[in-house]
Amino acid sequence: MEYVPTGLHEFDMIIGGIPKPYCLCLSGDNSANIQPFIFPIIGSFLRRGLRGLYVCLDLPAVEIKAYAEALGYDIKEYEKDYSIFFLDLFELEQKAIIETAKVESLEYSPDDLLRVIGEFMEWIKNGFLVIDSITTIMVNMEAKQAYELMRAIKLLTRSFNIVTIGVMYQATINNMAFHALKTLSDGLIILEKDRLKIKYMTGTLLSDEIFEVSRDLYGRISIKPILPKEVSRKVGLKISDIFQRCSSISLVPLLTLGSDVNNEIPADELMSILRLLEKEGLLEGQPYCTAVICPYCNSYSSYFFLECPECKSTIIEKGEAIEHFKCGHVDFRNKFEKGDKMVCPKCGKELNKVGVDYRKAGTWYKCHQGHMFAVPLIYFSCIKCNRIYDLDEAKFEIQNIYQLNEEAKEKLDKLREKEQTTIDFCALTANQNMP
Ligand SMILES: [Zn+2]
Ligand SMILES: [Zn+2]
Ligand SMILES: [Zn+2]
Repeated sequence: MEYVPTGLHEFDMIIGGIPKPYCLCLSGDNSANIQPFIFPIIGSFLRRGLRGLYVCLDLPAVEIKAYAEALGYDIKEYEKDYSIFFLDLFELEQKAIIETAKVESLEYSPDDLLRVIGEFMEWIKNGFLVIDSITTIMVNMEAKQAYELMRAIKLLTRSFNIVTIGVMYQATINNMAFHALKTLSDGLIILEKDRLKIKYMTGTLLSDEIFEVSRDLYGRISIKPILPKEVSRKVGLKISDIFQRCSSISLVPLLTLGSDVNNEIPADELMSILRLLEKEGLLEGQPYCTAVICPYCNSYSSYFFLECPECKSTIIEKGEAIEHFKCGHVDFRNKFEKGDKMVCPKCGKELNKVGVDYRKAGTWYKCHQGHMFAVPLIYFSCIKCNRIYDLDEAKFEIQNIYQLNEEAKEKLDKLREKEQTTIDFCALTANQNMP
C-alpha cells in the first residue's frame, strides 16, 4: 500500500501518512476545527502532482478557497491547470432556489451526485476527492440511499486509487452511525479545538488514540502526541486517575518477604505452609538468611531509607572520595578535578602526589546538605503500623531454605491424579482389539 504524507510533519511521523486508496472520515463540530487539517493534505497531494476534486455542499467554493489562502495555501496556482477543481453545488443550489423558489430544488439525488462526481474520476485518478460535507448528504437522503451512495463512493475510491475525505459536521457520533461509518470508511478522525482523536484507522497501528492540537495565529495546526510513544493511552489514563486521588506519586525502596514462586503462592501464605510441612516432617529446613521484622507489629514489610548521620537527610549520593591531608577536606573525586589538575575545593591548594598530598578514601556518602560520611544510617518505616525503627531496634528472624525428603516426595505424589495409568490402560485395550 502507498502512503501519502498529510503535510503535517509530526503527525506523519506517528501515522506514517494516509494509505491509498482510502476513505477517511473527518468529523468535528465546525469547519474551523476541520479545515486546517484538510488543506495540508490537499497541499501534499498537489505538490506531488496529484489532482483532486473538492465538492462544496455546505459552503460556497469562494469561502473555502479564501480559507485555504488564509492558511497560506496558494490554491489559485493549482486551479489554473485544473490540478484542483471546486465543484460548487452550494452555489448551484443557491441559484436554483432563487430561480425556482422551491424547497425541492435543495434535494440531492444520489444518482445525480454520483454522475457528476463520476465525470471527474478519470481526471483525478490516483489523487483525491473531498466531500464537504457528507452530513449534508446524510440529512437530505433516506438512510438506505445515503448508505448506498457512500458505498458507491467507496468503490470509486478503490477503483481509481484515490484518497476520499468525507467531512462530517457532527461533534458526537451515535453508536448506529459509528457502525455504519466503520463499514463505509477506512478511518475516522474527530477534530476538536485542541484535540485530535483517531477512532480507528486501518492500515496504521492506531485506534482510539488522542493527540494534542495546537493552532497558530492563522489557524494552522500542529499535532503532537500527548504522551511519549512508549506510554499507551490506557497507562496515561491510569496515571491521570492516580493524580486525581493523590497529590504525588513516589517510588520508595521496599523491604518485604519474597520468593521465586511469588506468582503462584504469596510469600506470607507460603511461609506458613512451609512451616506446617516442616513440622509434619515432610520438609527439611536449613537456616538461610535473616529477615528484618517490625519490632512493634511483627510485619515483614517496611520501606527502608538511608540517612545522613548528621542532618537526617534521606537524599544521599555515593562516590569515590579523596582526603586532602593539609586541610583535612574530604570530598568526591570529581570535586577535586579541575581540567587535568587536582585542586582542593576547600583550600584551593593543588594536589600532586597520592600518599603525600592526599589519599583515596574509598567509597563515601554525601547528603543533600553536603555532609560527607563513610557509612549511612539505615532506618525502616513499617508499612503496616507506620512506625519508624532502626537496625538496632529491628527484630531479626532467621529464614530457612526448604527441601523435600524422599518420603515426602512419594507422599506428595499421591496428590496427583493418576492420568498416566488410565492412558496406558486404554492403549492396552486398543492393542488387544487389533486383529
Ligand atoms: Zn547531612
Ligand atoms: Zn584542602
Ligand atoms: Zn509495624
